[in-house]
Amino acid sequence: MPPNAAGGAGGGEEGEVSVREGCYDDATFEEISLEAMARPRNEKSVEYRHIRLKNGLRAMLISDPETDKSAAAVDVRVGFLSDPADLPGLAHFTEHMLFYSSEKYPEEDEYSKFISEHGGFCNAFTSTEDTNYHFDVNSGDFEAALDRFAQFFVAPLISKDGVGREIKAVNSENSKNLNNDVWRNMQLWRHLAKKDHPFHKFGTGNLETLKSDPEAKGIDTHEEMLKFYSANYSANLMTLAVYSKFPMDDLERMVVTKFNKVKTLGKEANVFDDTPFDPREHQCKLAKVVPIRNVHALDFQWLTPPDGKVYRHMPMDYMSHLIGHEGDGSILKRLKDLKWATSLSAGPSPESYSSHSLFLISIELTDEGNSHVPEVSKIVFQYLNMLRDEGIQPWIFEELKSIGETKFNFRDKQNAGYYTRELASGMHLYPCKDLLLGLHHVPQEYNEDTIQAVLDCMTVDKVRMMWLSKTHKGKVTDVEPWYGTEFGMDSLEESLVEDLRTCGRSEHLRLPYQNQFIPTNFDLIEKEDSVKEVPEMIYESEMSELWYKPDTLFGTPKGQVYLSVISPECYCSPEAAVCTNLYTKMLVDSMNEVTYYAEVAGLGYSIQSTTVGIQLVFAGYSHKLLDLVEEVIKRLLAFKPKLERYEVLKELMQKDFENTRFDQPYQQAIYATSILCLQKKWHIKEYLEVLKHLTFQDFEVFLGRIMQRVSNQVMILGNLTKTQCVGFVKTMEGILGSNGTRAIFGSQFPEKRVVQLEGGRDYVYSQPVGNEEEENGAVNIMFQIGRDSFKRNTLMQLWVQIAERAAFHTLRSVEQIGYIVCVMGWDSHQVKNVYFILQSSSHHPSSIDASVEKFLVSFKTRLAEMEEKEFEDQKSSLEQVKLEKLKSLGQESKRYWKEIDESAFSFKRQELEVEELKKLTREELLEFHQTYFEVGSANRRKLSIHMVSHKMPNPEGDGKSDAAVIEDVHKFKRTMHVIPCAFAADNR
Ligand SMILES: [Zn+2]
Repeated sequence: MPPNAAGGAGGGEEGEVSVREGCYDDATFEEISLEAMARPRNEKSVEYRHIRLKNGLRAMLISDPETDKSAAAVDVRVGFLSDPADLPGLAHFTEHMLFYSSEKYPEEDEYSKFISEHGGFCNAFTSTEDTNYHFDVNSGDFEAALDRFAQFFVAPLISKDGVGREIKAVNSENSKNLNNDVWRNMQLWRHLAKKDHPFHKFGTGNLETLKSDPEAKGIDTHEEMLKFYSANYSANLMTLAVYSKFPMDDLERMVVTKFNKVKTLGKEANVFDDTPFDPREHQCKLAKVVPIRNVHALDFQWLTPPDGKVYRHMPMDYMSHLIGHEGDGSILKRLKDLKWATSLSAGPSPESYSSHSLFLISIELTDEGNSHVPEVSKIVFQYLNMLRDEGIQPWIFEELKSIGETKFNFRDKQNAGYYTRELASGMHLYPCKDLLLGLHHVPQEYNEDTIQAVLDCMTVDKVRMMWLSKTHKGKVTDVEPWYGTEFGMDSLEESLVEDLRTCGRSEHLRLPYQNQFIPTNFDLIEKEDSVKEVPEMIYESEMSELWYKPDTLFGTPKGQVYLSVISPECYCSPEAAVCTNLYTKMLVDSMNEVTYYAEVAGLGYSIQSTTVGIQLVFAGYSHKLLDLVEEVIKRLLAFKPKLERYEVLKELMQKDFENTRFDQPYQQAIYATSILCLQKKWHIKEYLEVLKHLTFQDFEVFLGRIMQRVSNQVMILGNLTKTQCVGFVKTMEGILGSNGTRAIFGSQFPEKRVVQLEGGRDYVYSQPVGNEEEENGAVNIMFQIGRDSFKRNTLMQLWVQIAERAAFHTLRSVEQIGYIVCVMGWDSHQVKNVYFILQSSSHHPSSIDASVEKFLVSFKTRLAEMEEKEFEDQKSSLEQVKLEKLKSLGQESKRYWKEIDESAFSFKRQELEVEELKKLTREELLEFHQTYFEVGSANRRKLSIHMVSHKMPNPEGDGKSDAAVIEDVHKFKRTMHVIPCAFAADNR
């Protein structure tokens, strides 16, 4: 659930007493008591302190001796609802400019370069009423990072020249969203509101709103930005969250001395409490909308009382739990039985803000559902009638409270940057004593009235409906101005209104059952004497391998089960891949009425088809985890497909495949890379062809083959004993045996191989972007480095760490190629690559390619001139990143599963790679650059994927390049070597 959706409670420190005045040389502050603050039960050594500086800035300091990453976030209580009327997007544009430079650190991009070269990550976002800046970094560099960060709010240098350039990045960011239905719908909801209400605004901004329009009116955007900053960036409207391992008093000193110079205006945050809708113009309406993707959807939205003020009762959570339920008696179950819908979500709408919450129900319809919109609407209103009839139920609230409390008490550690981001924005919403409970959405107090108040708003007269379908194309005449969304809005038809008012209840709709999956036993298993620090194989049979590791790090009553069922049948042809994929989807669908309860109670699972078979992952409280796994496996084997569900899910699958052509161009570039580089990978186009002819009989016949011969790779981590785990695998083998399943032959093991690019040669593969209306093109420029080798891996990681920000500065801040500029390491089946991913509406892929080559030349100089001290610093940053402590059982499992799934088994990879890292020299890094990136090197293996926009003119000149042009993918792959598989023995 989006954090901001909760709306505002006005923060404040109700019930807290000031106990201490603090003083440094030139700064004073007061400490506000946190005695009554609710904290999770499993957090023992974490300390919290809440202070208010004399300028009014409030800070939550968290000292956690166990964290090795430090983080901070500032949330300024001003967002795009406060944009000047003639400069839409100014708040967001200001957010971008603060990253450039400050009086104290005038070098451009110095802050983000510092963060990224010290193991960190930084970002920011602008929402309706907030602008939030956050970063994390290796703890040793925290104070230096915080010093740079504080200057955003003390004395930024918003240069005229920088504003002139960065406007292009803002425009590119907006252009990336133009063909995205989520953004389009969000803006359409805003558009369908009072024109003079801030709710109506366009918050991202583009060249028109921030450059050409203001220029025409004689407005200087740069000057207006300076005014906006000084009028709104007031210390008393800022909240700061800091999370680090340093002792509390050190954190306090850092914060007080660095943030005391932030100016304050002592002003109140802007409030937007007029209602954004006119009942006659905007409610009891239906907007027909033409989406970009081929989907049909029906959305219902209502204005409800501000949720933030009643956060202790969490009325929206109560409502979304019931309306969004997927078990027997739910709206979704009924719609699925009728073949009208495939999914439903319910909860606070992202357009919510502090004065008004909005509740949204969003239903994805099938083709058939699309011709039954009145009937679908009737089911929704019948469910609401049922809720009114039955009344608000204390037991349901108690269930949610108990689930929420358990989740809170056993919460996993989160990413530090993300955590401070949430804390800083939460500080505007919740009083500090309830800050953590509020962030975790834990309901505290049953209050029938506040829940009833939400339900009372959800009437036919107040509903705002949106019906998305390509079938509206040509039948609607309005166009939303910022995204160009075609739509038409009308009052709901009289007869439908009458129907919905009088539809009563339906016998198919009722409240959910009591949830049997809620865990009650949180005991930790007894520690065995000889516990290994990494997974060990504790069971091996003809058919299965079981890797096991008890929880030694987190002391949490949770577990993780990974199961890969390897079957040679699953990916042997495009037909097989489609059928396996369909099988997993139908399985999930058929079990949903049961497993949905488990998910609500904190037991999640997923089933996916892979290139070797089927992968199942289960995660949650250990108490009932294995019960769920066994239940799922039984159902998996006993599965009998139903024709009706087959038809619905096949239709959905076909649409999903077709809609990939609307993916972001850079995603299409990454996909094309994998098609070219993986020896065996079927193409979506082939799947679409298969789907045209596939019959239900074909599918049934195929199902009979999947489980003929399998091999099971199992990994279990967490609060489960060896005996339990071995018992489980044996039970599973028993179930398989009685099904007639045999073990696969060694000769049948599916291989995962990667094409080897020829050394000293460049390849280019050029394709048009899937969506003809898309103005962005993209590149993925790949340099193939080679097989898994600890030393070379660390050289690559070090190279990427240094290149990442250097490339960002050159290619984005200076050249302004586009909003997405990214350099990263990429593993495909143990083969390491470097990817340069860029997306642009102004630069042709071949010119981007040339810019990257130019960058590589200048980067070599950077490496050659790097001083020894900086080199050692870079190494030490990377070392800290690699040895960063694991935060949760989930993260630990992912790391080990990757080793097992790729047959690498290097469970101590981090430590072993760090040993290599320590030995690296500057010369070796330079040599690495020369070997893999320099033109003319016999080991440079470059593949450029160019996704070209239909709207992009061909480049001037002959565009000469020595690269081999790949015309035919299959011919290309057939003529190439493949890289040998790494054997487990290489690393073990
Ligand atoms: Zn932005």
